[in-house]
Amino acid sequence: MIPPRRIVILGGGTAGWIAANLLVRAWGGDPDVAITLVEAPAIGTIGVGEGSTPSLKRFFEVIGVAERDWMPRCQATYKVGIRFVGWSPAAPWPDYSHPFTTQVDTQTDEAFVLNCRNRRLGHDVWVRPDDFLLNGLLAAQGKAPVTPPHFPFRIEYGYHIDAGLLGDYLREVAVARGVIHRAARVVDATRTATGDIAALVTDRGEAIAGDFFIDCSGFAATLIEGALDVPFHGFADNLFNDAAVVMPTEPDGPPPVETVATAQSNGWRWRIPLRHRIGNGYVYASAFQSADAAEAELRAALGVDEAIPARHLRFRVGRRARHWERNCLAVGLSQGFVEPLEATAIHLVLNTVELFIRHYDATARARDTVNAAITTRIEGVRDYIVAHYKLTTRADTEYWRANAATMALSDPLLHLLDCWFRRGDLAGELARQGDRSHFGHLSWHCLLAGYGAFPPISEPPRDDVDFFTQRRIAAFLQGCALNFPAQAVAFAALR
Ligand SMILES: Cc1cc2nc3c(=O)[nH]c(=O)nc-3n(C[C@H](O)[C@H](O)[C@H](O)COP(=O)(O)OP(=O)(O)OC[C@H]3O[C@@H](n4cnc5c(N)ncnc54)[C@H](O)[C@@H]3O)c2cc1C
Repeated sequence: MIPPRRIVILGGGTAGWIAANLLVRAWGGDPDVAITLVEAPAIGTIGVGEGSTPSLKRFFEVIGVAERDWMPRCQATYKVGIRFVGWSPAAPWPDYSHPFTTQVDTQTDEAFVLNCRNRRLGHDVWVRPDDFLLNGLLAAQGKAPVTPPHFPFRIEYGYHIDAGLLGDYLREVAVARGVIHRAARVVDATRTATGDIAALVTDRGEAIAGDFFIDCSGFAATLIEGALDVPFHGFADNLFNDAAVVMPTEPDGPPPVETVATAQSNGWRWRIPLRHRIGNGYVYASAFQSADAAEAELRAALGVDEAIPARHLRFRVGRRARHWERNCLAVGLSQGFVEPLEATAIHLVLNTVELFIRHYDATARARDTVNAAITTRIEGVRDYIVAHYKLTTRADTEYWRANAATMALSDPLLHLLDCWFRRGDLAGELARQGDRSHFGHLSWHCLLAGYGAFPPISEPPRDDVDFFTQRRIAAFLQGCALNFPAQAVAFAALR
């Protein structure tokens, strides 16, 4: 396989600089390959204070950058999962955690699955997800998921990051490795006789020619939509949120190791703890609440007055019909956006670029393979997020009632829910679906158990069906957690 010779990336947000680093890592050793990134600093990037999945850890391993080099520069904290607060008043607990699963969980996950099955059969057994999975316990104890030397299990975790600082850091790494950085506003794209993109045209009239273009221009989608007119498939029929109001606040104590997603009157608000600030934002549906009312609700929840400015954003949820079209790959917000409830956007950026590098050749077959794989992943993420809204038992506003009432559910999601409520085997159902869901069966167990999606208890208490007690899961995980440091200790070790 011969890589494209002149690769031009449009956009210097998180997507652009991640793409630049992966491409220079994969193909930068070839003297015939030149990678240029063009961005207009005046346009700015999204950067709201993002949470990642464990794929960001893998990314830094792939590009060979250590945590001690990048984490302090990006004000990053460790993230072991997301806590959902106030989403389901009918659940037996006010909140639950969806932790990243780790190798340690292979010792406890069977007990979780068995208890979920027994609870679906009407037995009174313990099914709170946090208590079966190591990262759930680390979240409760505020411990960093950093293992001591010789710890025999691999621990998965992500990070909370300042995306602006991450972009700056990744730019330095990419430029040091040979990526050419140009600051210019792109106003047009010229085309070849066959319809491919030939060059980007800047506002100073310069042409930046290329053989392959990566569109990381954010919601503007300058190339994939502006030049190539690839349609957008919206998800608005089952994901209603299309706006956010963002308001950072000062740190108020040692940063926790989890994101908190708290249900609000017409959406939910995130709390993302960085080292220098707390990222807060309220994601809501503009059809149900005005921007002013959303801002007022967020201010009241945070207890902050007008002295702290608010930033308002609008977004479109959905995906491109094709992410790779002709000689252009859309990556990041230009390729689509599933609302940020599970913080999967950067994850999908990584997936997209990795798939492209793995499959790249100049054939239509490679293009179709990559397009189909990315579409499956985005729709898998969408289904899981739709399930959050479908399973919530909040009914206090028109927004939550409309969410619970939506019947716009994909077939894979309907089959999964049907399997759960028929007391079937979720892992088997996911395998039957070809493991197309982005989330594994433990994540689905967390979601369904977390929201208390069970029939009423109908059996008299019996010790022999509760594997949480029988297998002494709490004591086992408490013992494992003794190996992990407080996050402040882990930060000190990074210096
Ligand atoms: C409310 C909200 C919350 C989010 N939370 C999370 C989260 O928790 N976790 C997560 O993984 N993701 C999250 N995301 C998504 C995440 O912020 C983005 O996916 C990620 O930052 C990538 O953005 P991007 O690089 O595609 O676009 P942007 O950050 O918008 O960057 C676009 C770039 O293109 C350049 N550009 C645009 N037009 C031109 C032009 N004509 N000429 C030259 N340059 C141009 C701009 O200068 C900029 O450099 C969230 C998004 C939103 C809206």
